[in-house]
Amino acid sequence: MSTGAAFGAPSCNAYNPGSVTGLPCILTTTHSSNHMDAVGGCWPQPKPCNRCNRPTEAPIPIIVERASGPAWTVHLCPDCATRRT
Ligand SMILES: [Zn+2]
Ligand SMILES: [Zn+2]
Repeated sequence: MSTGAAFGAPSCNAYNPGSVTGLPCILTTTHSSNHMDAVGGCWPQPKPCNRCNRPTEAPIPIIVERASGPAWTVHLCPDCATRRT
């Protein structure tokens, strides 16, 4: 019997910028995964850009290759992603 939201806990209430329903997030403020509304829609939390640290709602994954060791993925805001140096 899980509703996905704990009673008594404050709700995240973030709005989905691309939502057609206009419903807010029903999860608690501490949720760390994607937002979810009452009708099951979900959308990504803003993530901090790995370069400038500004939160971005559309992080762009960039694969960073190294001469030795495994490649890894960083998430950049559109600004940083378009002017990589
Ligand atoms: Zn949320
Ligand atoms: Zn950035």
